[in-house]
Amino acid sequence: MTATETSFTELPHGYRLVVGLEVHVELHTATKLFCGCPNQFGDDPNTNVCPVCLGLPGSMPVLNAQAMELAMRLGRALHCEVRPSVFARKNYFYPDMPKDYQVSQYDQPTNVDGHLDLPDGTRIGIERAHIEEDTGKSTHVGGANSSSKGRIHDAAYSLVDYNRCGVPLVEIVSRPDFRTAEQAKAYVNELRAILVATGVSDAKMEEGSLRVDANVSVHQPDTPFGTRCEIKNINSVRSLGRAIEYEALRQVDLLEAGERVIQQTRHWNEDEGRTHMLRSKEEAEDYRYFPEPDLVPMVPDPARIEAIDAALPRLPAERRAALAEAAGRTLPDESVTIVVDRGLDELALDAVAAGADADRTLTHLQHDLDPGHAANVPAAHLAQLVELETSGALTASQAKQVVAEMGETGKAPEAIAAERGFEAMDTSELEGIVDEAIAANGGAWEKYCAGEQKAQGAIVGHVMKATRGQADGKLVSQLLEQRRSA
Ligand code: ADP
Ligand code: ZN
Ligand code: MG
Repeated sequence: MTATETSFTELPHGYRLVVGLEVHVELHTATKLFCGCPNQFGDDPNTNVCPVCLGLPGSMPVLNAQAMELAMRLGRALHCEVRPSVFARKNYFYPDMPKDYQVSQYDQPTNVDGHLDLPDGTRIGIERAHIEEDTGKSTHVGGANSSSKGRIHDAAYSLVDYNRCGVPLVEIVSRPDFRTAEQAKAYVNELRAILVATGVSDAKMEEGSLRVDANVSVHQPDTPFGTRCEIKNINSVRSLGRAIEYEALRQVDLLEAGERVIQQTRHWNEDEGRTHMLRSKEEAEDYRYFPEPDLVPMVPDPARIEAIDAALPRLPAERRAALAEAAGRTLPDESVTIVVDRGLDELALDAVAAGADADRTLTHLQHDLDPGHAANVPAAHLAQLVELETSGALTASQAKQVVAEMGETGKAPEAIAAERGFEAMDTSELEGIVDEAIAANGGAWEKYCAGEQKAQGAIVGHVMKATRGQADGKLVSQLLEQRRSA
């Protein structure tokens, strides 16, 4: 199944969208890629630096084995082939890169030809996932107006922090396989889940440990792909969707006005909700790549790759499939996806295996249990709670409260229910209250009997008030139904 067959964005005048993503992730290593400086976010500027990452003459890089291991692990999780690789120098000038070249991989990257399957089944090709070092970070201070604030032009002065220089990155380059902005967003979410599950990166967009550049083009069906623009500075998954949509419409407008799209790098401005040009890419940049003479080529040992494969944790796609099956669904639905995202799928599987109703279990794990409290909740407790709810001893809203407290305190559900005075309401007692409510809401009752279903709201509300919310709403509806058809 290809993306084109499943869904595409219908743009004005019949244009279609094509997107490819380049994602940079910082590897979760103790130290930097070629030196022993700590790989740590948020320290005082220029405290985690040494001659190697500052590019001082005569310093020599030594490859971080943990970075290599994490990069290969990511490659395998993305179904890539792990190949012999060569580091190369990519030469360009940038004030936050003191060496004036970036050590990257060029024509022989570590990982090639993989894929990532989106939750909806669309397969996105991965061209390569190569290792490189990060650059430092410039902060531009001052700026006359809001649109130039924080940008280099108009800045009064700039600050450079080299702490990030030499932090290990993997750049994951997708094929141009996205046909909707939604697919691009789903890819980033899925990639983030894989990175976290494999321990490769903490993948925090807000801290910059996961950064997304979007290549966007438009074309008419059955014609070659259009010229693309690359959009940078996208800070969240939501902005990714907005930036793609804005850029696609901008290109359609250009083409419809008889102009052409010029290949360029554009900057997403979140406040203004638009992209604007950073630099033209029409003349290919000449990075004068050449093999890094201070590092040896890397040849992966097949036994090492086998060991990596064997140690890979179950990935989100597999976990969703397992939970969907256990919960009696043919495909993972939203509740399954959310429970896996929240890392509560093991608990769900164990509770369902212990006999808990799957729907109620998933509902609680979607909404009511703080994932940070999961260790307080043995599956047996969760199964008992669901059983109390299924048998009618607790109402849905009582069960919600009990689940939250189970997480906070680790107590058993019966104990919490007893402390809170959540006693099962005797059905005959409830029947009496229902009859009173009918008597007190004659008008609503007549309408309800005439088939106006929502008229029962007034009567149910009366019962809830009379029982201070302790009645089971479902049971009240059933009793009303019985009385109406009697
Ligand atoms: P470059 O060398 O300029 O970075 P690449 O071939 O590496 O170019 O492609 C970079 C990214 O652009 C990839 O993610 C790829 O999927 C995407 N891409 C290539 N062609 C198009 C296109 N016509 N429309 C949208 N994205 C594209
Ligand atoms: Zn260093
Ligand atoms: Mg590229």
